[in-house]
Amino acid sequence: MRIDVVSIFPEYLAPLELSLVGKARAAGILDLHVHDLRDWTTDRHRTVDDTPFGGGAGMVMRPDVWGTALDGVLGSIAAAPAAPRPPAHLVIPTPSGAPFTQRIAEQLAGEQHLVFACGRYEGIDARVADHYREAGVVVSELSIGDYVLSGGEAAALVVIEAVVRLLPGVVGNPESLVEESHGDAGLLEYPVYTKPPEWAGLAVPDILMTGHHARIARWRRDVALERTVERRPDLARALDPTLLDAADLDTLSVLGWEVRDGAVQPHDDGL
Ligand code: SAM
Repeated sequence: MRIDVVSIFPEYLAPLELSLVGKARAAGILDLHVHDLRDWTTDRHRTVDDTPFGGGAGMVMRPDVWGTALDGVLGSIAAAPAAPRPPAHLVIPTPSGAPFTQRIAEQLAGEQHLVFACGRYEGIDARVADHYREAGVVVSELSIGDYVLSGGEAAALVVIEAVVRLLPGVVGNPESLVEESHGDAGLLEYPVYTKPPEWAGLAVPDILMTGHHARIARWRRDVALERTVERRPDLARALDPTLLDAADLDTLSVLGWEVRDGAVQPHDDGL
């Protein structure tokens, strides 16, 4: 996979040298380039922003500067590129975008080339996303959560880390990706423990010491269901009833939930 990140603060992306992403780069699994948007400006002050049409507070990032930068990074849509490049997927982090989820991370992990356009100020002129969509580029405007950051760099770091750990060969033991929160089961992960068996007066649950794999798996599933119901009832409601076995239904019932009218919901919901 190739990833390009365009920002007015390229130093902000330094953590991409570290940890799993850094290792993926060193191993040749990931070819990652960070660019300074101001390298594509033409004026003495290297200007990237201007006042908003229609008035209002703050500054907006200019589409012409972004267009020149992205044409260069995407392999130039207007002019034929010197060498054909794989189709790129343009990711524009924005708090007004679609929520970024593990499903989207999985989709992005299947791409060959991702380009991140990191906004600042009041964001990037809306014509940039429109222009590249019209030109046939897949454009995803993504939000990493319902809050407002000062820039897209932290959001790009989040999306890149979530995507890169899904690339084959990046996580040492791919099994560790299977039972994670937000996986196919739709559940939050069960709590995890390691040595020492007792710490700060707190003991590891006895069941985990038994070595009884089937009973441990059942306990983990029950605790995952309990956590999901308590912490993320929105995820519990979205569970696929066809993926729940009889023991799951018993656990849900103890928690005050059931499958009714083909959906997972609290016993007393809407009654
Ligand atoms: N005026 C914009 C709005 O209200 O939607 C907020 C702009 S924000 C101050 C500046 C930049 O930070 C955005 O262009 C985007 O790149 C990034 N950003 C802020 N919050 C974000 C979020 N929740 N998810 C993704 N990117 C975000």
